Amino acid sequence: MIPLQRPPLHDKLAADLARRTQALRSGGPSTAAGRAAWRDAREAKARLRTLLHRMAPGLARCMYCGDNLGTDIDHFEPIARAPLRTFDWHNHLLACAYCNSNLKRDRFPCDPVTGAHLLIDPSHEDPADHLLLYLESGAYRGLTPKGHATIDVFGLNSRGELVRGRRLAFTVVKSLLREWHRHSAESPETAKELADALALLWQADVLRAVVRLARTPPLAEAVLGPGAHTALRRLADQDPRFGWTDLR
Ligand SMILES: [Zn+2]
Repeated sequence: MIPLQRPPLHDKLAADLARRTQALRSGGPSTAAGRAAWRDAREAKARLRTLLHRMAPGLARCMYCGDNLGTDIDHFEPIARAPLRTFDWHNHLLACAYCNSNLKRDRFPCDPVTGAHLLIDPSHEDPADHLLLYLESGAYRGLTPKGHATIDVFGLNSRGELVRGRRLAFTVVKSLLREWHRHSAESPETAKELADALALLWQADVLRAVVRLARTPPLAEAVLGPGAHTALRRLADQDPRFGWTDLR
């Protein structure tokens, strides 16, 4: 999971969503009414999906697991809990069918004392404040109650293919960094292709964790190895997509 920047809505779509929310409010908001209105809003959903694809990690990956194609518009706060947020743009995230329909469904864990929700919303906060990715094992560690709840709800450690995928992605990142370094001086076109491949890699959380390592050079060198670490530093100097402060 990586932080995502939510683009503003254009006026026409914003007005359409506001009108639909007003209709729900007037009719007496309920789970059934919210779901029925959502089902019927085909054109609005198509427009929202286009925007969500643009803000999603990699090639329209799921904003929760980062591995599968994002196919569904997920209501971060479920319609069952907040029907008036059915058409709230800030409540929409792109999810794969497995994360959305099999795992999250209407789950929305909250702190029993404060009532604050306990899932990470990557469009509002940096998941790295709550989750630490161990690159060599591919496993996450929860740093906060929110991190623990997010790992639990989305099975970020219990889905073996996700853990293995992150481990393999780390191997690929290191290899691409070394290859980029090898080509950067003499074959700029090849180097650019390699940088583009890195930037759109599936499992964007792995790349982000690697880039964050650049903040602590001794650790980065130990984890990445000297060749990949040198390449990362040079790439970060040349390409803003790999500067850790700006990385999405
Ligand atoms: Zn997913």
